[in-house]
Amino acid sequence: SGGSLIAYAEANTNNSNRGHVAHADAITSNSIAHADANTSKKKKVVVLGTGWAGMSFLKNLNNSTYDVKVVSPRNFFVFTPLLPSVTCGKVEARSIVEPIRNIIRKKNINVSYCEAECIKIDPASKKIYCRAARATLNTNSKQGEEFEVDYDYLIIAVGAQVNTFNTPGVEGNCHFLKEIEDAQKIRKNVIESFEKASLPNLSEEERKKILHFVVVGGGPTGVEFSGELRDFVNEDVLKLYPTVQHLVKITVIEATDHILNMFDKRITKFAESKFLRDDIDVKLGSMVTKITENEISTKAKGSDKTTSTPYGMVLWSTGIGQRPLIKDFMKQIGQGNRRALATDEWLRVEGCDNVYALGDCATINQRKVVEDIAEIFKRADKDNSGTLTVKKFTDIMDDVIARYPQVKLYMKSKRVRNFVDILTEAKGNAAKETIELSIEEFKTALSVVDSKMKNLPATAQVANQQGAYLAKCFNRMEECEKNPEGPPRFRGTGRHRFHPFRYRHLGQFAPLGGEKTAAQLPGDWVSIGHSSQWLWYSIYASKQVSWRTRALVVSDWIRRFIFGRDASGI
Ligand code: FAD
Repeated sequence: SGGSLIAYAEANTNNSNRGHVAHADAITSNSIAHADANTSKKKKVVVLGTGWAGMSFLKNLNNSTYDVKVVSPRNFFVFTPLLPSVTCGKVEARSIVEPIRNIIRKKNINVSYCEAECIKIDPASKKIYCRAARATLNTNSKQGEEFEVDYDYLIIAVGAQVNTFNTPGVEGNCHFLKEIEDAQKIRKNVIESFEKASLPNLSEEERKKILHFVVVGGGPTGVEFSGELRDFVNEDVLKLYPTVQHLVKITVIEATDHILNMFDKRITKFAESKFLRDDIDVKLGSMVTKITENEISTKAKGSDKTTSTPYGMVLWSTGIGQRPLIKDFMKQIGQGNRRALATDEWLRVEGCDNVYALGDCATINQRKVVEDIAEIFKRADKDNSGTLTVKKFTDIMDDVIARYPQVKLYMKSKRVRNFVDILTEAKGNAAKETIELSIEEFKTALSVVDSKMKNLPATAQVANQQGAYLAKCFNRMEECEKNPEGPPRFRGTGRHRFHPFRYRHLGQFAPLGGEKTAAQLPGDWVSIGHSSQWLWYSIYASKQVSWRTRALVVSDWIRRFIFGRDASGI
């Protein structure tokens, strides 16, 4: 794998127009010995990120005609669904990380890894600019060295960052739960809170303040952390800190009307009533306006009154925003007003050649779906009358559904009224067999669908499937060039090389504490309770990326059942 590095390094040092470009051999010293002439002929694939999307791409790539370089500031993969379990000591941090070099060393293809952060993407010259994540040993500078890497194909899988919505005081006073270090910090802070509250000479009020844990955001992460904390208090604090256990207060602040609002209503209802029974205070319709060192200020929906409450620790878990690298790239390619990097259904970044984006940093452009459906309309309108009966349209929807799983999800989910209902309503509820609509009317109705059609969720499940899909496309690139397997192109001739990406929703879990989990499985099948908790254990054990982490995670669970959590805070 070292050969690729040399090829890059030579190209880089020659072309460099940045003052401080490091030779790649500063990053891997043994590369030269392995350089081989074939390497330079191989197409250079650069992968940014070692999270779910990047790892899944690497694990599934098996075509040795590429020279792959991975660039990421983190030299390990984190199994994020178990991060909340690390916060209170149910699982150890080490158990849920896998060194990326362990993953790539098992590959039979040319892959090298660079511990660096990409700081700029230049699609015009097919280059990325990087900064070493740690200061290299031969410099005293804290700032890492900078270098360039050029690519033939770029895979952007850098994930997202926490979104503070510019709320004053969030940075600096709140904990986040995104990285493994965040989970470790929270764990330390939780234990420290109990030790601090147990010190002598503190008033009852002071102890209460220290033991007031606030979670901002009632999504799956906030809810799971609250449940973990409640379990920790009930099962371990009771024995370890009996004098302060009754002073603990957990508050969940949620801006909308319900927690877990992306789940089925039955789950939301169950979670809210469980939290009520568990003495977790859920404040719905409440917006955080400011956080100071000691107090958190909130405003109830529709009210001007601000309430300030003392707290000991806040976890901010309200959603994600784009990283500066992606914001800058989006501006460069004319996507500055979008929420995430827009791709087509083949995960190709719109307006950029040979650049792919997947996972939390990207979104498949739904607007395109509307355009394409309008195209289907035109084709079905064979006599060129400019109108189509709704009945005929419903018949051709099969074609649409086959192409767009998002439409299928929408159609099935009944989250919004059925598309045909929207159409017939637009025509005063006439019988759908007889009414005729013009293409413009169809387009308007489709825009309603479009605005209501949800983007794919920012989950590990999506990132993982996208990584595997893209690797399969890369594996069969040449083969499919000769024998395309995708649907016919709407514009231009022939077929697409590959099938478009199709997301298969396998269900989602929301652990609620007390060994109870809510599971929403495909087909809107809902299960809540101990049995779903066992399903959660078995699925998360099976989804581990290696046998090593699987063994560690399972042994942590067993250890916790037998000995309780480790409350040393180390
Ligand atoms: P990430 O996994 O975040 O990976 C991004 C990678 O890019 C990292 O390696 C990072 O170091 C690297 N990177 C960052 N900046 C740069 C740069 N400038 N240059 C190069 N590399 C860079 N999803 C589920 O489906 N189920 C769950 O139960 C679930 N639970 C979750 C619990 C928590 C606490 C969290 C935080 C998330 C959870 N998710 C869950 C969501 C899931 O983790 C994300 O959707 C998923 O990680 C997205 O994958 P990704 O590859 O896009 O990004």
